[in-house]
Amino acid sequence: MTESMDIAFVMADTSLRDPFFPNVKHMVSSIINPLLQQNYDIRFRLIKFNSGNGIPTISTVYPFTDSSEIFQQWLRTGDDGAIGANTQNITICDALREALNSEWRTGDSNRCHENVVFLVTDNVPCPYLLNTTDNRNYNRLCACDNLWTISNAFVKKDITLMIVGVGQITSICDSLYGSIAKNTGGEYIPLINAIHVLHLVLQSILIEGDTLLQALRHIKQEEFERNSSYCCSVIQSADSSSMKHRHIAAWLPNHLQ
Ligand SMILES: [Zn+2]
Repeated sequence: MTESMDIAFVMADTSLRDPFFPNVKHMVSSIINPLLQQNYDIRFRLIKFNSGNGIPTISTVYPFTDSSEIFQQWLRTGDDGAIGANTQNITICDALREALNSEWRTGDSNRCHENVVFLVTDNVPCPYLLNTTDNRNYNRLCACDNLWTISNAFVKKDITLMIVGVGQITSICDSLYGSIAKNTGGEYIPLINAIHVLHLVLQSILIEGDTLLQALRHIKQEEFERNSSYCCSVIQSADSSSMKHRHIAAWLPNHLQ
């Protein structure tokens, strides 16, 4: 049974201003409140990045804290407690690399510890995808490739990546997001299903004594997919590591019509 957990929330900063934000905040609370009520040994950190889906903002990077009050304050407001000098316009990949290099705790034979990154994104990760003259140049490295590299680095460090997609535009990349999350043992969840799914996950951890990975395996595929175009079975039937920029670019014109 998991006895302690470090959670890094990597969040699109523009989502803080959009109409979905109350739901994002509710989703975050639905994760941390049940754990706090059970006196879990838990730490949080927050990394805000510029998703390119709105006005560029100053991204902010916070250290781990074990105070939920401080974390909630960071989430609600400004830059108090932010660290790092070069924090302007952090991209999704920069933010995930920052999370990767966090000062994570580790478990031992006497204590089961889990490290989790919750990525909350409101855009496609790769700006080339939305530029029709640019999206078929497959010979360069792009954010889609970088996400795979980062996902594999998460596996090596035993960090589970959970991804929550906010808004319609993320559906363009839901299979990529789903693949890189599943690669680490995590899942992609459209925001509309996130609170319900995470409630089930937390119940399973707190009542059944499951680990996060065990809890996720007990949840039916439909719970992730309902109310959305996300299709887990596409990922499961394909070799998930084959979900690359060129597959999304090839599929995109039909999807956008
Ligand atoms: Zn790409």
